[in-house]
Amino acid sequence: AAKHQGRNRCSYYAPFMQEAVQTRMRLANDLRSALSALNDSFRLFYQPIVDLATGTTHKAEALIRWQHPTRGLIHPMEFIPIAEETQMILEIGDWVFRDAARQAARWRLSHHAAFQISINVSPVQIHNMANARNWPDYLQTLGLPGQSIVVEITEGLLLDASIGVTEKLRAFHEAGMEVSLDDFGTGYSSLCYLKKFNIDNIKIDQSFVRNLAPDSDGMVLCEAMIAMAHKLGLKVIAEGVETPEQRELLAAAGCDYGQGYLFSIPVPAEDFEALLNRQFK
Ligand code: C2E
Ligand code: MG
Ligand code: MG
Ligand code: MG
Repeated sequence: AAKHQGRNRCSYYAPFMQEAVQTRMRLANDLRSALSALNDSFRLFYQPIVDLATGTTHKAEALIRWQHPTRGLIHPMEFIPIAEETQMILEIGDWVFRDAARQAARWRLSHHAAFQISINVSPVQIHNMANARNWPDYLQTLGLPGQSIVVEITEGLLLDASIGVTEKLRAFHEAGMEVSLDDFGTGYSSLCYLKKFNIDNIKIDQSFVRNLAPDSDGMVLCEAMIAMAHKLGLKVIAEGVETPEQRELLAAAGCDYGQGYLFSIPVPAEDFEALLNRQFK
């Protein structure tokens, strides 16, 4: 009877498990094919990072989308983990950097001489800097100063002391690039990391912004993060700003920049150009 039950349990779980594994394997295969035509397979969308004091946009975050041949646009949460596990992120991440750099060059000419584009850089890319080591040269080829590109990393990376993160982030800094700490407040990093790794900006995670209301706990937390960052000489970007009230509360707390659906969802570069000339008053 036990054997029978065991088999039943198996037949209950197996199809579901198998399907998940198969979907993943199929995606990994499709991703491998996508690498042979990076420009046709991936696309960067841009979301404005708005100066809360002036309502102007001189910064954007590049967010990758995969143009899957049959499934349409796939969001990063669905394929970045697979790309990381398989190391394909190294090639994809290098493409992200180059595409973003070329876009920064265009917008620096057409819109604002100090325009900056932020890119998300996976811990896997920091572990293996083979590609990223060439980034400063690529910027030079384009005639772009390092300040054109901001590297967004997450807190988890800073906890991993084993891989010489300090030295690797220094390579970005030496080339003039800035480093932002993404999803700030959700991990385990302490204040001393901000100094130790010379972080330039923190991005307050959207989970804090979501709970913003006057005199709320969310408000107290945001105020504390902003005050602390400013004391250390860092700039603060709030993620996930969706309402005028959140924007007002953040601006009143002295937050430097806001990013979120209130201003725009992430859009293709062509559509972003209309936003560049808009003031978010
Ligand atoms: P992230 O870097 O924290 O990016 C912010 C995410 O929040 C984006 O999701 C963005 O579309 C979304 N978002 C922006 N404003 C709002 C808002 O007002 N409300 C809400 N609810 N969400 C908002 P997306 O584009 O799906 O990207 C998800 C994550 O995927 C990113 O989180 C980042 O960690 C990763 N990612 C994106 N592009 C790349 C890339 O080129 N390379 C790597 N390694 N990771 C990437
Ligand atoms: Mg980011
Ligand atoms: Mg974030
Ligand atoms: Mg995130």
